[in-house]
Amino acid sequence: MKKYISVPSRTKEILDQYGIRAKKGFGQNFLVDPVIVERCAQMSQCEGAVIEIGPGIGSLTEMLARYAKHVTAYEIDARLIPVLEDVLSDYDNVEIIMADFLEEDLDAKAKQLKEQYGKVSVCANLPYYITSQILFRIFECPYISAVTVMVQKEVGDRFAAPVGSPDYSALSVEGQYLYTVKKLFTVPGRSFNPSPNVDSVIIQFVRKETEQSNEEIQAFFALVRGCFKQRRKTVYNNLKEYLQNAEKAASVLEKAGISPSKRAQELAVEDLQKIYEVLR
Ligand code: SAM
Repeated sequence: MKKYISVPSRTKEILDQYGIRAKKGFGQNFLVDPVIVERCAQMSQCEGAVIEIGPGIGSLTEMLARYAKHVTAYEIDARLIPVLEDVLSDYDNVEIIMADFLEEDLDAKAKQLKEQYGKVSVCANLPYYITSQILFRIFECPYISAVTVMVQKEVGDRFAAPVGSPDYSALSVEGQYLYTVKKLFTVPGRSFNPSPNVDSVIIQFVRKETEQSNEEIQAFFALVRGCFKQRRKTVYNNLKEYLQNAEKAASVLEKAGISPSKRAQELAVEDLQKIYEVLR
């Protein structure tokens, strides 16, 4: 029987066979811990279709293919495509797309997968250099019900960050607004090849029921990002810029009962919602 791709000796064999060295520029750290990989796939609520960003040499993809009906994996590094096609050739439910995930039409893909498989989730060990952009993009997509991602510990901390703490950001607000957020477990640096200096965490987002349309959610998120644009500025200054109108910014904040001298990181999700309601 073949060893799992994430068994360290098999990972090494694959990397040697294809002459692959991890590219720092693409945030490549390959998982070499079959217990963690299996736990992650098992807990990812991936019983329908699952989307993976950055399959690398396929360690998580392989496990997802065992638990999900279908796996769609986006990989930017052309060197890894023949490797993935080879090591995953036993699975006929895996689709590899060679692309920059951020350039793809996620809504169209997720909609199609939802129609075909009933449920769509995301499970991935994210490249650290674009973690936030990827999460923002996923949060905007209305067809995804659960997101399980491995991220660097400091990014994970942002989701549990209370109002007023330095980690509290637009990403925390969006995550907490749309999802129930849970930290599943910590992954030590030694579980990766090459091993980074920092630990990672697996965070899970399960989408809450909402009555709001996707357009309304997108409009709220645009406002949130506007309010957090320059963290050192007051909410009034950021809002003034976002609305391109100083008078309107002042009156919206007054009607929402929010002091213009506050900064966005001092505002709870409900405060930002109040601003949005007044603006509407
Ligand atoms: N999933 C593999 C694992 O756990 O061993 C690899 C994870 S590694 C942290 C991140 C992966 O994302 C790499 O394979 C990298 O090439 C890929 N990647 C980086 N930027 C990407 C992008 N914009 N679109 C798609 N894949 C990307």
